[in-house]
Amino acid sequence: MTSIDSSKHKKAKALKPGSRRPAKELCSECGLCDTYYIHYVKEACAFITQQIDTLETQTHTRSRNLEDENELYFGVHQEMMAARKLQPIEGAQWTGIVSTIAIEMLNRGLVEGVVCVQNTKEDRFQPMPIIARTPEEILAAKVNKPTLSPNLSVLEQIEQSGMKRLLVIGVGCQIQALRAVEKKLGLEKLYVLGTPCVDNVTRAGLQKFLETTSRSPETVVSYEFMQDFRVHFKHEDGSEEKVPFFGLKTNVLKDIFAPSCMSCFDYVNSLADLVVGYMGAPYPWQWIVVRNDTGKEMLELVKDQIETQPVMSQGNRKPAVQQGIKAYDDAVTLPMWVAQLMGVVIDKIGPKGLEYGRFSIDSHFARNYLYVKRNHPEKLEAHVPEFAKRIVGQYKLPE
Ligand code: FAD
Ligand code: SF4
Ligand code: SF4
Repeated sequence: MTSIDSSKHKKAKALKPGSRRPAKELCSECGLCDTYYIHYVKEACAFITQQIDTLETQTHTRSRNLEDENELYFGVHQEMMAARKLQPIEGAQWTGIVSTIAIEMLNRGLVEGVVCVQNTKEDRFQPMPIIARTPEEILAAKVNKPTLSPNLSVLEQIEQSGMKRLLVIGVGCQIQALRAVEKKLGLEKLYVLGTPCVDNVTRAGLQKFLETTSRSPETVVSYEFMQDFRVHFKHEDGSEEKVPFFGLKTNVLKDIFAPSCMSCFDYVNSLADLVVGYMGAPYPWQWIVVRNDTGKEMLELVKDQIETQPVMSQGNRKPAVQQGIKAYDDAVTLPMWVAQLMGVVIDKIGPKGLEYGRFSIDSHFARNYLYVKRNHPEKLEAHVPEFAKRIVGQYKLPE
């Protein structure tokens, strides 16, 4: 990068809430256009200009090595591992490694603030991005808000506050826009802690998903699409509900994912310094990808609070991916009891660890490639990154 060279952004006007965004229906509501940094939207928006490899070089000093299977799939990295907190944070999405790193960075004075996302008082799933300045504020942002979240809407406040050292927690589309305007924020040091992200929805889409899939939509506090091929819902009373993917009503749910997320190829958050997810690790461990020296510095801070083990990989995803592409395209929904049985069989023989990560990436990239090809054919060539083209190229896709 970067072709961004103007410093006139302060004169630009943020868009009004609810108004149409420059990326139109592909907008993921990342928050950039809620600020005067909209000035840079043409270069910064992940859905207008796809430039992951250029930004990888800017951030990690090199783009991913497409000949190395782990980099092809998981992006530039120095190290990957499975990890979990020795004392999990209650109510965190997993064991709370993300919140713990953020708290340590603040407590040790590495940063003056942390961009993260709490929820509104009225609605536990309505995102409310903030710049946290205390550990309590960070803790209040724990657990996923499984909806599009305008995390970058607080960017103007950073410049106004005079803050020089900042941690931003976010998902891929937010981080791509952030990296594109990074040099304009007036910071001495920016740290980026990312999570993987896929299949996100608007708040209304989330409601439909919960009502179609869970036995008790109003008591769900969090959920996750898990490595055992089930959606795990946690309820207010502490109970867990597990619904097999194969039982999801794909014909009803086909349209609930946001168009941005059906066109997204940055599942693994390529531009973060450190990524904390779960999909490359055996359940119930978390999965950590250290992309560069900054990420390593961040992880070091919590080494005495976590246990780790090497990443593992088991099984063969490819036949399941190919079958899944067809089933999805045909919108087949299996009766629940058949789906339960299949869930058990797949759990015993299915892909595990990194192979599960590759299974999920293959399946989503194939679906998203078809979506872009069918709905935005003029964007296909430039919008799909080279690594995603190679991944999708391993499968036979329907027209
Ligand atoms: P916690 O300590 O609970 O902290 C969670 C952090 O996430 C908070 O700091 C909060 O600010 C931030 N956050 C919450 N919601 C959002 C949001 N909508 N946008 C941006 N930031 C947010 N991991 C995988 O391995 N595979 C997946 O398919 C996958 N899908 C995901 C989809 C979404 C929409 C999100 C938000 C995350 C997803 N993750 C996925 C990441 C995973 O679910 C956990 O968030 C991650 O492992 C961290 O867990 P934790 O207990 O350490 O986080
Ligand atoms: Fe603006 Fe972000 Fe939407 Fe792109 S995704 S149009 S940068 S708010
Ligand atoms: Fe953004 Fe992609 Fe997540 Fe959608 S799936 S919210 S576009 S990172």
